[in-house]
Amino acid sequence: MGKSVLSGPLVVDTRELGRRPGAERTSTFTVEAPADLGYDIFGVPEGSAIDLELRLEAVMEGILATGSASVHATGECVRCLAPVDEQFVVDFQELFVYDDIRDAEGAEEDDEVSMLQGDLLDLEPLLRDAVVLALPFQPLCQDDCPGLCPECGARLADDPDHGHEAAVDPRWAGLADLRTDLNQDPDEKNE
Ligand SMILES: [Zn+2]
Ligand SMILES: [Zn+2]
Repeated sequence: MGKSVLSGPLVVDTRELGRRPGAERTSTFTVEAPADLGYDIFGVPEGSAIDLELRLEAVMEGILATGSASVHATGECVRCLAPVDEQFVVDFQELFVYDDIRDAEGAEEDDEVSMLQGDLLDLEPLLRDAVVLALPFQPLCQDDCPGLCPECGARLADDPDHGHEAAVDPRWAGLADLRTDLNQDPDEKNE
C-alpha cells in the first residue's frame, strides 16, 4: 500500500496474532548473521548462525517483542592479538507500534519509536543494539592476559617465565657492546 516492504532474515510476520491484545506466540529459529554486526575488532561473522528465541505479544498499541539471541563473536585480544572466539547470549525487548495508529495520530517520523509495517516487524536494529551493548569493547583472550613481551613480542600467556638475560647484569653491558663492535667490523675474519 505504497510502503516499502520490509525484508531480511530478521523480519517477522505477526499476522497470526490478529492484533488481539493478549494474543501471543513464542518461537525459536535460526538466521544467518547480517553484515557488520558488532565492532570492527570484535564482531559476529556475516553468515554465522544466530539462534533466536522470540516471544511476540499483542498489546493495545502494537506488538511487544521479547527475546534472546545466541551469537558467536570473533576477534583479536587487544593485549596479545591471539584469536578470541566467544558465544554470547543477548536479550532484547521492544514495543513495535502499529503504523496505522501512528499515522492516525499524525505523528512525524520518530526514530525513537519502532514501528510495524503492516504486520511485519524487523528485529535487526534491535539485535544490532543488543549485540553492541553485550560485546566487550576490548576483547581479551583471558581476563588476566599478560600481553606481549616488550622486548621480543612473545605472547607471555604461553610463556609466563619468559625472560631476557641480556642487560640484566650491568657488569656485562660493556662486553656486549664490545662484541657488537667486533661483529660489525667489516675486516673481521672469522676462524
Ligand atoms: Zn591475550
Ligand atoms: Zn621476550
